[in-house]
Amino acid sequence: MKIGVIAIQGAVSEHIDALRRALTERGVEAEVVAIKQKGVVPECGGIVIPGGESTTLCRMLAREGIAEEIKDAVTREVPILGTCAGLIVLAKEGDEQVEKTSQELLGIMDTKVNRNAFGRQRDSFEAEFEVEILDSPFTGVFIRAPRIVSCGPEVRVLSRLDDLIIAAEQENVLALAFHPELTEDLRIHQYFLDKVFDC
Ligand code: GLN
Repeated sequence: MKIGVIAIQGAVSEHIDALRRALTERGVEAEVVAIKQKGVVPECGGIVIPGGESTTLCRMLAREGIAEEIKDAVTREVPILGTCAGLIVLAKEGDEQVEKTSQELLGIMDTKVNRNAFGRQRDSFEAEFEVEILDSPFTGVFIRAPRIVSCGPEVRVLSRLDDLIIAAEQENVLALAFHPELTEDLRIHQYFLDKVFDC
């Protein structure tokens, strides 16, 4: 089994690290690989799209032919985890900021997203919040974080902060506005691995 982390930019090594630690914790073997080019996604049983800069991410994914491979993986129900810019990349629709840069969103989740939703004063912060899939609060790191403005009936909202949607899932696709890979808490990566190993 391979689990791939899209390695175009952003917190790639942190996600690889968190996944490896989460795998060790549950005593399961899988190879965690960095995906830089076409041809690897089809071999993966789980894919992570990390944070970074969503315009660049979208452009590169399309240019390298990885975008099509990810869309195809979704049709095979391969679990996907998108964090921060990854949440934007997964969305169907963006706000004017996204439209202005004509980002080619993957359109995998029935969501409308807003880039940099928490304002300049709150460029980067940590906050504690409840997540529906966890039995106690999670502390998340937010870095120029987006939010989900609205979502379709297939999307399950998992968490809100100040009433803004910061986590949601649609079948095997999980999107987070924050960075779970930047804290020691592996519960969200474990939840993702539950989906990968289907337990
Ligand atoms: N604000 C960034 C964007 O819109 C995302 C920030 C992040 O991934 N930390 O692309």
